[in-house]
Amino acid sequence: MKLPYIEPYKIKMVESIQRSTIEHRKQWIKEADYNLFNLSSDKVMIDLLTDSGTGAMSDHQWSEIMLGDESYAGSKSFLKLKEMVVKLTDLPFFIPTHQGRAAENVLFSVLVKEGDIVPGNAHFDTTKGHIEFRHATAVDCTIDEAYDSSVNHPFKGNIDTSKLLKVIESNPRDKIPFIMLTITCNSVGGQPVSLKNIREVSEICNRHGIPLYFDSARFAENAFFIKEREDEFKDKTIREIVLEMFSYADGTWMSAKKDGIVNMGGFIALRDEDVFKGCTTYNIMYEGFITYGGMSGRDMGALARGLWEATEYDYLESRVRQVHYLGRRLEELGVPVQHPFGGHAIYVDADKYLPNIPKEEFRAQALAIELYIVAGIRAVEIGTIQADRDPETRENRYPKLELVRLAIPRRTYSLSQIEYVAVALKNIYDTRHKAKKGYRIKWEAPIMRHFTIKLEKI
Ligand SMILES: *Cc1c(COP(=O)(O)O)cnc(C)c1O
Repeated sequence: MKLPYIEPYKIKMVESIQRSTIEHRKQWIKEADYNLFNLSSDKVMIDLLTDSGTGAMSDHQWSEIMLGDESYAGSKSFLKLKEMVVKLTDLPFFIPTHQGRAAENVLFSVLVKEGDIVPGNAHFDTTKGHIEFRHATAVDCTIDEAYDSSVNHPFKGNIDTSKLLKVIESNPRDKIPFIMLTITCNSVGGQPVSLKNIREVSEICNRHGIPLYFDSARFAENAFFIKEREDEFKDKTIREIVLEMFSYADGTWMSAKKDGIVNMGGFIALRDEDVFKGCTTYNIMYEGFITYGGMSGRDMGALARGLWEATEYDYLESRVRQVHYLGRRLEELGVPVQHPFGGHAIYVDADKYLPNIPKEEFRAQALAIELYIVAGIRAVEIGTIQADRDPETRENRYPKLELVRLAIPRRTYSLSQIEYVAVALKNIYDTRHKAKKGYRIKWEAPIMRHFTIKLEKI
């Protein structure tokens, strides 16, 4: 008999999960104005709100916490982190920031001005927020296949180069400060970008003299998919693939809370010294001195080690296997999920799940609330609420997909806990025809409303 697969780690410390009943949870979610972000974590049993900053650090990372050098300037931990980022990306200029959006704020303060156009593949919400906040426009050039949840395409994060060329040709060169690739592409479901596509986009960038930047929160998972799905790279190591990916970039920013496997952190890495110099000023204004940028020394040490572990094949294999196990189980149980499965999360297709709830009543949010009430699982809506309003017309922007994301924290939950999630979703699916009414908005913020929105039941 073939031995089953086992995770390449064992548990050294545990954290209790507070149990609760359906009656409790009905009350709690009402008190939270039907916004899952408003729930305290002790009211949640399995927390799949995000894979951001929620992973479990290794024994080596915890050792780095003790070794942290908290010097204001030039700490050893900073140098450790900088050396690791240079080793992995070969981008020579490095600035730490406290998280990904802080890196966006610093970098975009240098690169983006009013009236600019930033083409890319389905910009993440904070990325889009930082572009629109500067009265510039994020133009989505992702391939059409990304928006059909039944199509199987190995690299749904890819940019459609003809869409990209159209944007380039219909705008003056000085209106496009850079082109960006999100690897993996969070907003279409953690879908990877192929190296072939990176090369093609890079070639277009070179031809038109436009810099190429990566939003690389999940660059290691992207490299894993390249190894698995692009024949040319099947014998390359993850780190070789990572190096080649970044060889096409003029710079990158990263939310280290994802593939850095730390609870907090981020950075910018650059090829251009002038952009670096511009960033240092904003980093000092917004984040802290250029050798800590809002991070403590111990956190920089743990991140250096986390980046190393995240680019090990065995870790990535177990990571992606666990996420895909959930996807396969849901599929076996007949629940509509997005295809192919992404790197960090499984997305349930709420349009197919709750077709009787009008889309104006936030179907995907209704499903996320139900999942919480039924099983104490916290997921997140990636649909109309998160898509915000159009900045000009203030109308709701209805996205092409209404999804509920089940994001899996790294190295955190067991397979039996993942199984519990699958069964809870099946049970709700079986009773889907009963749900006819959704939610209406009581209060919302003018931008990135999903974090603080208040809803009521219709
Ligand atoms: C998380 C994320 C960000 C923002 O990073 P934070 O650390 O949450 O501020 C930006 N882009 C992508 C693709 C992300 O996943």
